[in-house]
Amino acid sequence: MTDDVFCILPYNSLSLDGPGRPRLCCNNHGHWEDYSQPFVTECSNPLDVLNSKLHKEVRLAIANGERHPTCSKCWKIEDSGGTSFRQIWNDVYKNSVPGSISEDGTLLSDASIQYLDITFGNKCNLVCRMCNWMNSHLWMHDLNKLDRWKTINADPRSVRQLWFEDHNAIEVIKHSLKHVTHMNFLGGEPLIVKQHMEILQECVNQNLSDKQQISYNTNLTTLPQELLAMWQSFAHVNINVSIEAIGDANDYIRQNSDWNVIYSNLIRIAALDAPNIKLELHTTFGLYNCYNVADLITWTVQQPYFSSLPFVNLVYHPTYQDVRLLPTHAKQEIRKDVESALSGLEHCQNYNSWIGALNYMDSAAQEGAEYEFDNWPDNSWDQFWYDVDQIDKLKNRKIDDYLPKLAKLRP
Ligand code: SF4
Repeated sequence: MTDDVFCILPYNSLSLDGPGRPRLCCNNHGHWEDYSQPFVTECSNPLDVLNSKLHKEVRLAIANGERHPTCSKCWKIEDSGGTSFRQIWNDVYKNSVPGSISEDGTLLSDASIQYLDITFGNKCNLVCRMCNWMNSHLWMHDLNKLDRWKTINADPRSVRQLWFEDHNAIEVIKHSLKHVTHMNFLGGEPLIVKQHMEILQECVNQNLSDKQQISYNTNLTTLPQELLAMWQSFAHVNINVSIEAIGDANDYIRQNSDWNVIYSNLIRIAALDAPNIKLELHTTFGLYNCYNVADLITWTVQQPYFSSLPFVNLVYHPTYQDVRLLPTHAKQEIRKDVESALSGLEHCQNYNSWIGALNYMDSAAQEGAEYEFDNWPDNSWDQFWYDVDQIDKLKNRKIDDYLPKLAKLRP
């Protein structure tokens, strides 16, 4: 095995996607093409999960010193000089010895799960405008009422993703906990999934929690008191709070959310003054919130409980929400506002990702070959506004009341 191709995750990570299928990591979507992949509900122990066809193939490639194409995201990042997911996790587990494998790549029983990376289906309490039914089951209610879905054939397996309600699935996970040092919980919305608390309680019961680190991506619209108490017994808890804008604008984009509730939950966490709990704000950068991100940066810096700038994710999909669609004068205005908000914050964590996001906004579609959703139909800008109006009508809202600067760009 060479360091150039080795990745620890196919050996030590129990990673499950929304429908509950084993994946190599949350950065890898290779399993979507392979319908023979088992679901965790069909597995009898953690090793079954780690011995999917793709896992075996990738471990064999590693043993042969080859880059498996399914890990292309990591190879692309490394080839462009960046730090890949593979390198990050190899560093975390640099002192770990991977379990041994048989000739066909099967992981043998000396393996242990150290990283638990779980997507709790698509159970969510919000209907964010840049989201879809694969990540929020509530979008299904609007599916037939909006034209945006007409061209999409919903895969029934991705529509109902409640695998974690199967007792067997949670038992498989509970049997994996003994050597787990890191856990990553995604959704949907993980904080509304009671089974996630069962897993944490099991860690506490087995006296493992004080050596374990948890990470979440959450909308923080819900925060059970018992969870707040439980977090304090873990070595470290990273809470990545998804927010698009401040106040009503956030609630308009992240439909069903209530800014006051989110804010009070932030204060509840901050009031614990727990050194093991770290809050980070995560936002997207897309058409809906393009005029709001500068204020969001400023607001984040003013809050004592955030130690970094917001982490930014670009909206690539739906393609008609991509910020590259903005007219030039709007891009110039947004760049000016964001650069002004960032002024003097060059030393802060996530600063460079904002500069990258602004450069992305200014890039031409054809220049962004590294981005997955690079091509959009010529009518995308009109399609965005058509979609805005359809959702507004359905939800009895008006964009002018929440995002007035963006509303002025209406063709
Ligand atoms: S090489 Fe990258 S994509 Fe492949 S399993 Fe490792 S982290 Fe995931």
